[in-house]
Amino acid sequence: MARRGVSYVSAAQLVSLARDPGVAIVDVRDEERSYDGHIAGSHHYASDTFADRMPDLAQVTAAKETLIFHCALSQVRGPTCARMFHDYLSDAKEDHELKNIMVLERGFNGWELSGRPVCRCKEAPCKGTCS
Ligand SMILES: [Zn+2]
Repeated sequence: MARRGVSYVSAAQLVSLARDPGVAIVDVRDEERSYDGHIAGSHHYASDTFADRMPDLAQVTAAKETLIFHCALSQVRGPTCARMFHDYLSDAKEDHELKNIMVLERGFNGWELSGRPVCRCKEAPCKGTCS
């Protein structure tokens, strides 16, 4: 299901991927994050301000090899932001390391429905880890 450099991972794959320190999870939901909880350890870059915050995200994740994007369902906002960021890195003048840009299949809702742990801390970025 890869197109324009973005591929998909399942919630089960994310559980093992999230243990890798080279992996960052990027939540692009908007206000839902504050009342629905989030995946432990995820960064929050809301889709409505995502374009403006891409330079910040690039800096924050400079040491990461893989970024996994998601929104509530990963149907619109997640893949859109993932592709936008992929294009941003491809066009960037600076030498960014080549990254794997991925999208979590079925998004946060699928993650929660499959019984994966949900973190409800108020920290941004979340310092929790998936276990
Ligand atoms: Zn948290």
